Parts: sequence; C-alpha cells; structure tokens
Amino acid sequence: MSENKVDTLITSSPFEAAKILLEGGIVVFPTETVYGIGASAFDFKACKKIYEVKNRPSDNPLILHVENLSSLKACGNVSEKAELVFQNFSPGPITGIFTKRNQDLFTAGLNTVALRIPSNSTAQFFLSFCDVPVAAPSANLSGKPSLTKIEYILEEFSGKVDCILKGEEPKIGIESTVIDFSSEPPVLLRPGFVDRNDLLTILPDLQGLETLAESSKIEAPRSPGLKYRHYAPICKVVLKNSLKNAPNDAAQIGFHTNSDSVFAMSVSSNEEYMRSLYAFFVECDRKGIKEAWCEIPKDGNGKEALINRISKAASK
Ligand code: AMP
Ligand code: MG
Repeated sequence: MSENKVDTLITSSPFEAAKILLEGGIVVFPTETVYGIGASAFDFKACKKIYEVKNRPSDNPLILHVENLSSLKACGNVSEKAELVFQNFSPGPITGIFTKRNQDLFTAGLNTVALRIPSNSTAQFFLSFCDVPVAAPSANLSGKPSLTKIEYILEEFSGKVDCILKGEEPKIGIESTVIDFSSEPPVLLRPGFVDRNDLLTILPDLQGLETLAESSKIEAPRSPGLKYRHYAPICKVVLKNSLKNAPNDAAQIGFHTNSDSVFAMSVSSNEEYMRSLYAFFVECDRKGIKEAWCEIPKDGNGKEALINRISKAASK
C-alpha cells in the first residue's frame, strides 16, 4: 500500500469529482452495488495507483463503468445477445466481458474488457461529467468485504485517494453479476443480484462456470479474480442451516437470530440479506467478534449470490 498521505477532497458534487478524475486523480464513488474506487480507463498511471491503494494483485483486471449502452458499445464488441441482456437488466448490477474494441483502454494486459452501466443516480451524474470510461473495482482493501456505507469509506480511504464523492448510498449491497460474452456460449462468472433464472429467460444457453470447467477441463480461470479469497472479515465466518446452536459470543445474521446473541442482524428477505451482509462483516470486526454465523438464505432470487459471497468469506 502507498505510504504517502494524500489530501482527500470530500464532496457531494459529481462535477468536482469528475474534474479530479480527469486530472489523473483517484475518486471513490457510490454505485447501486457497493462503493467503487475509480480512475480514467485511459490513464494507465492512475489505474495502476488503484492497485497500490487497494493492495490488489496486478493480474486482477478492473470493471469499466460507462454511462449508457452507446458508450459501452464503443468499448467492447457487443453481440446482439449481449445487447438484449443489457437492454433488460441495465442500467443496473450486471457486468459483461467482451473482446476489446477500443485498444486504448486499461484492461491489465487482457484482450477482453469488463463493462457495466451503474444505475445509482450519483454514479450516473459522475460518469456523465467524466465522459470517459471509469475503471473501478470495489472500494475496499483487497480480500476484505466490499464497503457499502459512507462512514466506512471515510474511515478507510481518507488520506489515501484524491476524492471521495458522497451521494446516494448503495441499495443492493453485493457486487454485480458478471457474464462472459467474449466467446460462445456465454458463461456466468460471478452470481449477483440479477439471478441466473432471470438471465436464463433471455439467455437460454447461459453456462455456469462449473459445467464449463467439467466439459472443457480449462486450467486457467476465466476470470482472474476468481482465484483469490474475497469478501472476508478478520473473524471466522460459517454458513449454517440453522442458527439454533450458535454460541452466545458468536455474531449472527439471518432470518431466525437468537435474542441472547452478542451481536445479531436480523433480515426478512434475501434482498435485505444482500444489503446487510458486508455491513455485518465490518461491524463484526469493529466489535472484535471471533466467529460470525450466517444462516442459509431462502430459496429463490439472491440465494446463489449470497452463498457465493458467504462461502468465499468462509474459505481460508
Ligand atoms: P471487483 O474488483 O470487486 O469490482 O470485481 C471485478 C471482477 O471482475 C473481478 O473478479 C475481476 O477478475 C473480473 N474482471 C474484470 N475484468 C475482467 C476481464 N476482462 N475478464 C474476466 N474477468 C474480469
Ligand atoms: Mg472486489
């Protein structure tokens, strides 16, 4: 991580934040999924600074954020099939991987590019003022939970980035669904809020990474980020069918939390679970909790994404 302390401008003006980005600065901004830490995708030096601040492995590429579908199509080679998916689920929490159309974009040396159109109103204003694709991974230290609240962002990134843009807080709470459209058939690389079953109605040939790995025995991961541990707090995380037998000194999140638990976050839907999960992890570490029990999500939308994030946080 960079040792140099930076002057951080904290602003509610997307215009001011865009100016800083266009001068080569790093800007943390909200999206509907989680906060992002962004730089101009044409400014390789600024993009590399993101890796330093996050302590991110240099082979893990960044998602580029654009304002609308026409900007997206200028960056990547978008098939008709992919366009249909973006027309249905975007602006929103969905990312496509495409072969690169504009060779001047930063993609960590890959010939593919990850692209997304966020729906968050602050992100939309910011991107329209930037008028360049903004490379932005989640705003968190590499491996740690993504951050979903401005108070955590101010604590973690003040003095490390050039600007923090305040505005509409993330409503979804976990990272985007990622689909690889760079070869046929398309592959779901990372589950998210946009659910596999909804995608299948538009993309009936969508593959899961599991089936692909079995059928073609590919060695190299399709998405470099998949090989790293992610989303993990310091405390031990466990995924459980029931919270009934949780010790009182373990934190709990789920639908049936115990009232005598030292710290419990109760949720009533998978959507609320997604929105709360990372704040739960952050609070567990703030409170010095040793073990966090997570109840298995309900069947239906969000289950796959939640199990994916909790399992990654639980893996050592
Ligand atoms: P995050 O950094 O949390 O926003 O996550 C970005 C995810 O997108 C990581 O898992 C990256 O590995 C993945 N990603 C970004 N660009 C590409 C690409 N060109 N090909 C495959 N995966 C990508
Ligand atoms: Mg991340």
